[in-house]
Amino acid sequence: SVSVQRLCCIGAGYVGGPTAAVIALHNPHVRVTVVDRDEKRINAWKGKHLPIHEPGLNDVVRAARDGLCGRKAEHERRDYANHAQAREESVRQPNLFFSTACTQTIAESDMIFISVNTPTKVRGVGAGRATDMTALEGAVRDVAMHARPGTILVEKSTVPCKTGQLIKDILEAYRPGVSFSILSNPEFLSEGTAVRDLMRPDRVILGCESTISGHRAAAALANLYAAWVPRSKIAPINIWSSELCKLTANAMLAQRISSINSISAICERTGADVSEIAKSIGMDARIGPQFLKAGLGFGGSCFRKDIASLTYLAESLGLPEVAAYWQQVITMNNFQRDRFARSVISSLHNTLRGKKIAILGYAFKKDTGDARESPALDVIRILLEENPNSIAIFDPLCSEADIVRELRAVDSETEIMQPRGPVEIVSDPYTACADSNAVLVLTDWDMFKLRKSNRAVQSKVEEHQFDGAAPTTILQLRHKADKIPVPAATLLTPPHTPDMKGASLETEARLMPEPACPPECV
Ligand code: NAD
Repeated sequence: SVSVQRLCCIGAGYVGGPTAAVIALHNPHVRVTVVDRDEKRINAWKGKHLPIHEPGLNDVVRAARDGLCGRKAEHERRDYANHAQAREESVRQPNLFFSTACTQTIAESDMIFISVNTPTKVRGVGAGRATDMTALEGAVRDVAMHARPGTILVEKSTVPCKTGQLIKDILEAYRPGVSFSILSNPEFLSEGTAVRDLMRPDRVILGCESTISGHRAAAALANLYAAWVPRSKIAPINIWSSELCKLTANAMLAQRISSINSISAICERTGADVSEIAKSIGMDARIGPQFLKAGLGFGGSCFRKDIASLTYLAESLGLPEVAAYWQQVITMNNFQRDRFARSVISSLHNTLRGKKIAILGYAFKKDTGDARESPALDVIRILLEENPNSIAIFDPLCSEADIVRELRAVDSETEIMQPRGPVEIVSDPYTACADSNAVLVLTDWDMFKLRKSNRAVQSKVEEHQFDGAAPTTILQLRHKADKIPVPAATLLTPPHTPDMKGASLETEARLMPEPACPPECV
């Protein structure tokens, strides 16, 4: 089979960066270059502070990028046990590079990963559902114009079924008669556990055309993965199945979340307990326990857009019943947030005027600083309609700029940020909670976890210990917790914290009554 010496990855985002780093780490003989048009992002990848936060990522990137190994990087590697290869070698040559020189890198590579963004179209035909292929088309055009004949092109981005054909058509249009191989290798990593997922994937799907060159290309990619993934987990399949299996996987995971959330709504009206139900049904081996925590619903940049893409695909194929079936998963997701936000408002006597709401956690799940598609945004949007005096948001990782960008996208007309608007983003949870009428815990960050022993006493936030895994922050918080009183806060913690890979938060809005009411009457 073809042996890959130089690999290019177009797109230095949440998928491109970590994937390239892990491949480079395990294939020290392959020169891996990640390219992006975004110079700021590339500079961040080259620098000390990586543009994305993922547990273990610093370690992997530095080992491959800087050739740091052995004792030098040991302190950073402590938490990451599965790092045998880098630990064994005390010296290694750097083989991971980041660059904005897209065309030059493309021209020098034997294999090119395309991991550019494929969001939902916001206007035009299929707006709100169809996949926006602009970035992918641009990347393929660059490949068509600059790559050497025979280069292997790998779809890493999540794309609609039959995108391989579209890529072929673009290549043929720009380089008629030149042959390229196209593979589909969807990425199943989850934000927050990206390094772990890449290091120990459940499976690696390789979709290829059933031609000799297709199989050769697939073998070349399989060899890169086989450096650390058991061959039994590397599955070569038909290219269209491969494209469709990524959308299907995300749709099925999201569907479980919407299914259990629909049951949570019934529970709240009947006295049944959704966590008991989830536990009971999860013990059935046919169902399994994962993705069964009721919550605010799924968030993040993938689930909603991938289901939208699937419904659009079904509709374009003349299958309205199939489209309607999957659309319902999104409907249920929206219903859940709406329900939670409205329960917050009703527990505050149906008015937020003159009141302050603290929001702990903005990211769609813990351990990521990705502010895109957060369920918190929908909750905030509904709360804003009630004209609260202020909404103070604290998140340990999401940057202020990212949160503000997301909030402004909801309403570009009105100024919602302080000093003219009600929303402020604060740098510690105590400032957020001070003098608030309600504290909403909207991300399952460990630092917001309540100690079991404190669950019964929920009328004052200072009586809750912040618990969790990030040692230094938490010590400070515990220390401060004794000092900063948070009078009369109503704690609205949806107690179910999902453990899910893909997304979601917590729901079961067990609302505390206004402070006058003692805890027992909840
Ligand atoms: P991202 O937005 O973080 O990164 C995409 C990058 O591609 C951006 O930095 C952008 O500047 C760059 N780019 C776009 N067009 C380019 C071009 N022509 N040349 C060079 N650079 C270009 O996106 P992401 O979250 O990494 O997702 C990438 C793909 O992977 C999407 O299709 C997504 O659905 C899929 N995916 C994402 C995840 C996830 O958890 N984020 C998981 C699995 C799959």
